[in-house]
Amino acid sequence: MTQYMTGLVVRDTGAPAALAELRLPEIGPGQVRVRVRAAGVCHSDLSMVNGTLRPPHPLVLGHEAAGEVVEIGEHVTRTAVGDHVVLNWQPACRTCWFCEHGEPWLCSTSHGVAAQSNGITLDGAPVHVTLGVGAFAEQVVVPENAVIPVPRELAFDLAALLGCAVLTGTGAVRNTARVAPGDSVVVIGLGGVGLSVVTAARAAGAAQVIAVDVTEAKKGLAEAAGATDFVVSSDNLSKDIRSRTGRLGADHAIECVGRAATIRAAWRATRSGGQVTVVGMGAADDMVQLSALDIFSSARTLRASVYGQADTDLEVPALARDVLDGKLNLDHLITDRITLAEVPAAFDRMSRGEGARSVALL
Ligand SMILES: [Zn+2]
Ligand SMILES: [Zn+2]
Repeated sequence: MTQYMTGLVVRDTGAPAALAELRLPEIGPGQVRVRVRAAGVCHSDLSMVNGTLRPPHPLVLGHEAAGEVVEIGEHVTRTAVGDHVVLNWQPACRTCWFCEHGEPWLCSTSHGVAAQSNGITLDGAPVHVTLGVGAFAEQVVVPENAVIPVPRELAFDLAALLGCAVLTGTGAVRNTARVAPGDSVVVIGLGGVGLSVVTAARAAGAAQVIAVDVTEAKKGLAEAAGATDFVVSSDNLSKDIRSRTGRLGADHAIECVGRAATIRAAWRATRSGGQVTVVGMGAADDMVQLSALDIFSSARTLRASVYGQADTDLEVPALARDVLDGKLNLDHLITDRITLAEVPAAFDRMSRGEGARSVALL
């Protein structure tokens, strides 16, 4: 029986995202069909629309999501119909070099930023699905390693956040930066990921968490997430950070924007020997300039944190337990609960720097 569903599709570069009727494929061996129940609006989705990233078209947007398994293909063992699951946009194959060397977040068989097709069609032609997921749709078809079962008691909207913003932000703090008790941490960019970084840094025992954004509008959210200081970004940012950190600069700066200018600001906000962690995904032609002498003499470390540098199959269920046990409060992260049709308006809010996460409920 042929099945159709509604999804949010961008038909061409520069075209607006709009609802479209998509045709679902029969699922094959090892595949799972998930009824999406909640999907968060992530900055990477906006980057697919506004030209920062150049994905192929037509494209079903969305990748931060949770839902219920409604059908499983042959040989599927890790999930069953009725399971509540978080979708994983960087599933680990467990057999490539990276997976076998303990770096599943870099799995070489997973397509990461690329979009791929999975049998779903639009007007009879294949469409691409964002990060192998395409979660701004009523259903997704994914390989079984792209679903992570979570307890049924966890609300779908909170579960969705674990699939991107919260895992990315928490992992950047715990796994990449390894923030230690007493550290000072600057967080640049207070979207869903940045606010998750703030919360995780405080939970890790950071004595000072200086949250930075472009307008005063994020101050309340930053404080709710646990920031000790809030600073509006300016040309004087490094001076301001120094004045708040005993003239040294911070132990850590965590950049959650993905732009050369903010990566440089993060670099300048840290002390000699400090650590800069880049979490934001930027454009291929946005070059970061640092002088050779500065790199040597400041002895800072610059690292990227991809998908929280986490083993998602272990860390997503652990985060789910933390939420259910009351150890991790995510309530302040969701500022707008919306419909699929309202996602484009959420992109506009995100472009203006308003709110934290918008989550589409389906
Ligand atoms: Zn994301
Ligand atoms: Zn792999």
